[in-house]
Amino acid sequence: MLPIQEVFPELNVSRKIFITTHHKPDGDAIGSMLALSHYLAAKGHFVSAVSPSEVPDFLRWMPGCSQLINFESTPDTAIKVLKEAEIIFCLDFNDPGRTKHMETLLLEAKQPKVLIDHHLFPKDVWDYGVSMPEKSSTCEMVFDFIRLAGDDGYINSDIATCLYVGVMTDTGSFKFPATTPSVHTMVARLLETGIDHTAIHEHVYDAWSESRMRFLGYVLIEKMEVFRKFDAALIVLSRKDMNLFNVQNGDTEGLVNYPLSIKGIRFSTLITERGDEIKMSFRSKGDFDVSKFARLYFEGGGHFNASGGRSKSGLDDTVAQFKRILEDNHPK
Ligand code: 5GP
Ligand code: MN
Repeated sequence: MLPIQEVFPELNVSRKIFITTHHKPDGDAIGSMLALSHYLAAKGHFVSAVSPSEVPDFLRWMPGCSQLINFESTPDTAIKVLKEAEIIFCLDFNDPGRTKHMETLLLEAKQPKVLIDHHLFPKDVWDYGVSMPEKSSTCEMVFDFIRLAGDDGYINSDIATCLYVGVMTDTGSFKFPATTPSVHTMVARLLETGIDHTAIHEHVYDAWSESRMRFLGYVLIEKMEVFRKFDAALIVLSRKDMNLFNVQNGDTEGLVNYPLSIKGIRFSTLITERGDEIKMSFRSKGDFDVSKFARLYFEGGGHFNASGGRSKSGLDDTVAQFKRILEDNHPK
């Protein structure tokens, strides 16, 4: 993979550019994709941004979001713009498999592929790029990319709003260890563009349905198991649990973080029944590596303190397997 700045000469003339991110996009995925789209369009390029799956409700208000192409609902449009593109940017993932149904298309695409990402262990399929697991967010890296190009002046309030969403969500509102001085310096620059950070927080965090709030109460009372001897906690949600509260796509987002607010808990796991597979989310505090945990036992990966994985076994078997693994792998 060539260093990211080697792609700058490619961008000296107007190009057709394809931007994508990971399946089930989060704030950093959509934020980085939209910010880069706004910037490249302002530089005179023709940009198409494709999300492998639907954008969650809490991000739909973001500037430019209505122009995103959803691969799941309009695959033909997405494939057409991919075929026409001259350069491909991949943001907030480093393994084409994380785009799920777009994996083969990306691997077979002949155009140069540019990676901007902060996950561990990038696959070796990128032509240009930057991979920095120590970065707070892909949005921080898009900010760095724009400034490295000498284009700080292009950072307007639309770009700043998108970048703010990604850095805010990926740092747990500026709480996680990757929130360095340069993150705060960046945020200062974003605020200078006149963005309304209070409104951004409200859009993202205070847009729950009443049933989602009641579902949270139910989950914490009925579904959270705490293992004091391991400094760990587990939430298991069956399809039936989700049906009880008419749980929507995205309503389980963030549930895995709650147990970490209990004093002494340093490892939290959420296991949910999704379609034909079991989805697992892992979060930790301190020196317990959940990226390794996900990679070793549940076909997943991610970051040191936030990772995900899956299981093909049934829900009960997966939970039993998890509990066996926990006996020997825990932060205590
Ligand atoms: P979440 O629990 O929110 O789904 O994922 C947490 C983090 O782990 C995210 O940064 C995400 O990129 C990563 N992650 C989730 N699932 C997988 C997976 O199956 N494979 C890999 N490599 N990373 C994952
Ligand atoms: Mn991210």
